[in-house]
Amino acid sequence: MGSRVALVRCESYDDAAVHAAVGRGLELLGWPDGIVREQGEHLLLKPNVLVGSAPDNCVTTHPAVFRAVAEHFKAAGAHLTYGDSPGFGNPESAAKRSGLVEVATELGIPFADFIDGKQVLFPEGDLIKSWFIANGAVEAEGIVSLPKMKTHGLSRVTGAVKNQFGCIPGMRKGEFHARMSNVAQFSRMLVDLNRLLKPRLYVMDGITAMEGNGPRSGDPKQMNVLLLSTDPVAIDATVCRMMQLDVDLVDTVVIGQELGLGTWEDIEYVGDPLESFIAQEYNVNRSPRTTTESATGRLSSFMRRYVVPKPYIIEDRCTACGTCVKVCPVDPKAVDWADEQGARAKKPPVHHYGECIRCYCCQEMCPERAIEVKTPLLGKIIHR
Ligand code: SF4
Ligand code: SF4
Repeated sequence: MGSRVALVRCESYDDAAVHAAVGRGLELLGWPDGIVREQGEHLLLKPNVLVGSAPDNCVTTHPAVFRAVAEHFKAAGAHLTYGDSPGFGNPESAAKRSGLVEVATELGIPFADFIDGKQVLFPEGDLIKSWFIANGAVEAEGIVSLPKMKTHGLSRVTGAVKNQFGCIPGMRKGEFHARMSNVAQFSRMLVDLNRLLKPRLYVMDGITAMEGNGPRSGDPKQMNVLLLSTDPVAIDATVCRMMQLDVDLVDTVVIGQELGLGTWEDIEYVGDPLESFIAQEYNVNRSPRTTTESATGRLSSFMRRYVVPKPYIIEDRCTACGTCVKVCPVDPKAVDWADEQGARAKKPPVHHYGECIRCYCCQEMCPERAIEVKTPLLGKIIHR
């Protein structure tokens, strides 16, 4: 059966404009039928708080979108909590720096527990059958996911499917990067996680999206759109179409349909026309897939060294903060201080590419935009 995606034009983060646009999108989906199921039920709002970052940086779900969704759900009688586990640092501090705590406090919405969690079994999982999920997600009766439209070094697009990764608390996320050492496996894990958590609605913030060196260090891209659906695969496929990116290149979409999470082929669009949101240019990784991205293949050392894009440090931007060293999930670290003296002297860390699984967590978390992903010459030739 097909899925419905509501597209609503919204050209600024003015609170009243966003409130009206979210309301229109919800109406297009038949609000509140099936979305708020009973008065007083406990729903978790799950924004994207990758790190604490000011709203203008476009890293996190904008507080105006969070506010609008919260206001509509409160008016419909839901009891709300909210939260996310960032890639690094304390969850509530990150939400504060992202402007969400201020709005939540004003609306009387408490921060849920995203530090600790519970073991949850999922025998239906295709790849992962046992999870450790944040209490804040486990204890809610339903999840409303608020992803941000962005690019990503590993998965090309980070959107609705990937947003639930923040329901895994703290550094446990890194374990998945270490275990799922290629993008197809990692995407399969994300699809399983969505099949387990089953958010009942997704409202994507694509008003000012991100392009380029995402998901943290990219550039703002004005897209003027909110995307609403109960199907995360349909939303992410729509994002691909807006970026003019081949859907086949995004594993969360392809595997999402394969495992029954949603559809990228059978989508009914309502609201403003899709054609009006298609960007003539969008800086996103369009390189064809290599054999290293197959579902079973591990990176051969030759491919890893000469073909697959690798992270590298732009030394004059690096402040030697050490974040990349802390978040690198492999043991021994694939990005580390050259020696103790280097750490003390605040010299940039160095990459050990032989150990690197190309998860790009270091690029994702660098606070100084000092890590970029570069394709080796042979990789460029093959991709051409
Ligand atoms: S995270 Fe970025 S700024 Fe910090 S040490 Fe690593 S490269 Fe340098
Ligand atoms: S160096 Fe960066 S890309 Fe390589 S494994 Fe560590 S975090 Fe991942």
